[in-house]
Amino acid sequence: MSATYELRGGVAVITLCNPPVNGLAWATRKAIAAGIEQAELDPAVRAIVITGAGKAFSGGADIREFGTPQSSAEPNLHSVLRVIEECSKPVVAAVHAVAMGGGLELALGCHYRVAAPGASIALPEVKLGILPGAGGTQRLPRVLGVENALNMIVSGEPVRSELLARQPGQKLFDQIVEGELVEAAVAFAAEMGDRHAAGASLPKVRDLPARHANPDGYFQFARNTVKAVSRNFPAPLKCIDAVEGAVKRSFEDGLKLERELFIQLLNTPESAALRHAFFAERAASKIPDVPEGTPVRPIASVGVIGAGTMGGGISMNFLNAGIPVTIVETSQAALDRGLGVIRKNYESQLSKGKLDQAAFQKRMALLTPTLQFEDLGKADLIIEAVFEDIAVKEQVFRKLDAIARPGAILATNTSTLDVNQIAGFTRRPADVLGMHFFSPANVMKLLEVVRGKATAKDVLATVMGLARTIRKTAVVAGVCDGFIGNRMIDQYGRQAGFLLDEGCTPSQVDRAIEKFGFAMGPFRMNDLAGNDIGWAIRKRRYVEHPSIRYSRTADLVCEQGRFGQKSGAGWYDYQPGKRTAIASPLVEAMLVEHRQSLGITPRRIDDGEIVHRLVYSLVNEGVRLLEEGIANKASDIDIVYLTGYGFPLHRGGPLCYADSQGLFNVVRAMKRFARNPHDDAGFWEPAPLITRLAAEGKSLS
Ligand code: NAD
Repeated sequence: MSATYELRGGVAVITLCNPPVNGLAWATRKAIAAGIEQAELDPAVRAIVITGAGKAFSGGADIREFGTPQSSAEPNLHSVLRVIEECSKPVVAAVHAVAMGGGLELALGCHYRVAAPGASIALPEVKLGILPGAGGTQRLPRVLGVENALNMIVSGEPVRSELLARQPGQKLFDQIVEGELVEAAVAFAAEMGDRHAAGASLPKVRDLPARHANPDGYFQFARNTVKAVSRNFPAPLKCIDAVEGAVKRSFEDGLKLERELFIQLLNTPESAALRHAFFAERAASKIPDVPEGTPVRPIASVGVIGAGTMGGGISMNFLNAGIPVTIVETSQAALDRGLGVIRKNYESQLSKGKLDQAAFQKRMALLTPTLQFEDLGKADLIIEAVFEDIAVKEQVFRKLDAIARPGAILATNTSTLDVNQIAGFTRRPADVLGMHFFSPANVMKLLEVVRGKATAKDVLATVMGLARTIRKTAVVAGVCDGFIGNRMIDQYGRQAGFLLDEGCTPSQVDRAIEKFGFAMGPFRMNDLAGNDIGWAIRKRRYVEHPSIRYSRTADLVCEQGRFGQKSGAGWYDYQPGKRTAIASPLVEAMLVEHRQSLGITPRRIDDGEIVHRLVYSLVNEGVRLLEEGIANKASDIDIVYLTGYGFPLHRGGPLCYADSQGLFNVVRAMKRFARNPHDDAGFWEPAPLITRLAAEGKSLS
């Protein structure tokens, strides 16, 4: 059943029923059209109400139909809107909770609209790199005014219904209803039915004018503003073109323009990337052998061990979600320092108006600092964020095993250590997993959930659900050094080093990859994060494994004490107190000397090679992670890179980008890189999976 039909007095009520958000699937569209026709033919009906069951009026297109023939099968949304507009009896949309995309376009096709307060109203298509395709760009300016409508269409952001109620210049909602919505809508519809029976004509949004006092000046201004902020995305500018069409063309011609622009955008790589990211994010929470509906453990309280860089940020996530946190440290000084940072973070939000005093106090009140490990005994989930040292982790997990209540979930935030080994420090390895947050943990969206070999399914399901509660994007990773993100970034870092060995300067590498879309190149990034962190890792990794080839350039920089911004010099020079990276003559001279010592004659390397070596190193390592089962699916890897590593969104993630280039070409490039005597030929051997997919003409996603 996709919509129900009932009579309330002389008013027919059509209720959309397509959970979870009443997406406008083919069956739903047919049911709306059929309901309108039934009401039209029934002499007992004076007016019609369209409303939605459950938690939305309508969330728009049914994403389950994307890319299927049903999505455009007739009646499409245009045809349904025509049926509604041409109906001889008034049709009233009764909007609650959510009217987005096609859902809002449906409401705009009705003769009248009433809404509950607090409903989210939006045309979010721009976020998928397209524009509203069922008249939204033509009708919304006619009811909201050109500027308000353009703001909504270009940003895709929701606006609360009460702000869109009828007032001078705005006619989106005829009424905001405080009480029972459908009852009020039926009463309103009956009244409109009577008026209409007495000869009043039915208002249609398409008949209203879309006017602006100075359209040329305004649209020029809008284009300049939008161009500056939508660099890599064509959709926002096309939204402006479409709305300009509403002002300058007839309604029908405007619709035609909207259609043309919609199809143009649908075929852009940017839209493909955004749609990929949209579905990838939803898919990330699905784990092949952990079905939806797997029972979860209730998490009403959390313990955090260590109030350092990570422990503080991790705690804030739970406090923000209203979950009490007990945080434990080894000394009063460390505890005070950690608490001070949390308080300062909240105070900064307070001063920026992002948090009010009451919320601030509530959050701080949910936090219990302690020096007694035993105070964690009642927590449902305990997250360890102590020093990255296996001996310290062992001590902590053995103690945890002794004091945590049975059934508590025990998580480690380790970046590099073996989660299976850590689980083995307890007698309950099924309750142990990794929760790898990224720094700053209260800000970064990504959470790698590391599944140990013994981790129980309900533990995994619980943590994936909890991630949603604390508004993280969680991706499951298996146990290996670096999990998904850091294992791949390590290869990216190695390539950046080889590029220096062969003739690039740090700024040349950074500029090339920044032009590709990364916010920051690898050397500027390292200067920001601190070069000593990578140095410590390299000492462990490459000293233990001397056969692994890597560029010594980063070590040379560290040996000079150039740790990055914090020491005033790194790959770049910095003026005191400033963050602007200035090319360093000293580093460049050092590189020249280094190449001489290796007997390398520097060559000119173009941006294309720089970008492909950096990005395809992510791709090859990513595919190996898939082969090893560390990552469940290609799209999970893309999500890790989009949400945790600043990979450019308009490229859809490294594996989506590889697909867009054609795996045949990617494999050829890898083989070419393998022939470079200064690179790591073994690494560039294309992973068997990518070789096979390329040979079969297939893609990773
Ligand atoms: P940190 O040095 O800033 O903080 C560690 C804190 O743990 C210190 O305050 C220390 O006093 C406390 N501590 C040590 N032993 C303890 C014990 N037995 N009981 C209670 N507290 C104890 O370190 P950090 O950067 O927050 O890293 C913590 C963990 O998170 C490490 O495993 C690290 O690999 C991981 N991690 C760090 C980052 C990052 O960017 N810093 C990112 C992801 C994961």
